[in-house]
Amino acid sequence: MIKNTEDVAALVSGLNYAQKVERSLDLISQAWKEYGDALVVANSLGKDSVAVWHLAKRVSPKIRGFIITTRYKPAQTVQFMNEQVRQYPELKVFKNDEPIEDGLYRTDPDKCCAILKVEPIRRAIREMNVSCWVTGLRCTEGRTRTDFKEIEERDVGLIKLNPILIWYEREIWQYLALNNVPVNPLYSDGYRSLGCEPCTRITLDADERAGRWIGTSKCGGECGIHTRPLTNKSSAGV
Ligand code: SF4
Repeated sequence: MIKNTEDVAALVSGLNYAQKVERSLDLISQAWKEYGDALVVANSLGKDSVAVWHLAKRVSPKIRGFIITTRYKPAQTVQFMNEQVRQYPELKVFKNDEPIEDGLYRTDPDKCCAILKVEPIRRAIREMNVSCWVTGLRCTEGRTRTDFKEIEERDVGLIKLNPILIWYEREIWQYLALNNVPVNPLYSDGYRSLGCEPCTRITLDADERAGRWIGTSKCGGECGIHTRPLTNKSSAGV
């Protein structure tokens, strides 16, 4: 298996845009050779995910993906999702429609995310026989994302590859512009990080994820897909 060998912070500031693109393609390519069809890209429909999806498709058009959606996604995100799925039928959509209390996102956002986001991603990993999932996570996004590695094994037997971990926000937009990649139209309103409608605001804060879960204990935090066990076999992580 490919290994983490380098210092993440040094890579963030030490590589230029083109070198980061090459590194990301190389990481995906190595993982694709190792895992084949058991490698699947998670696509949240945000700018980072569409960049990773585009990179993965450059490695192989055969690479599959999944989208986790919820009843609370903004209409623009749903429309963008439908367009993406039409263009890429190999993107499978997972959603949890079980009944939950009204306003759970306000009273207990952790529980709401656990039901609406973590449950379907666990299902996606199981049903798509995933051994390596590929994410758009970046370590410069905010306070909760500084400690990740490019390759992790938080669940035994499930590798998580973060191929754009070391990219700056500016480099994502650079990549998307240079490659004419369509993005969620909500970015034109001023959002910098996208989630469910009740939990996402436009802010002027320096932190890219500051507009997430404003007014709750989860402010600027995580929905749980990067922090909670995704299989029944969790590990201490690497
Ligand atoms: S982001 Fe908000 S609405 Fe969406 S699942 Fe989490 S708490 Fe619920």
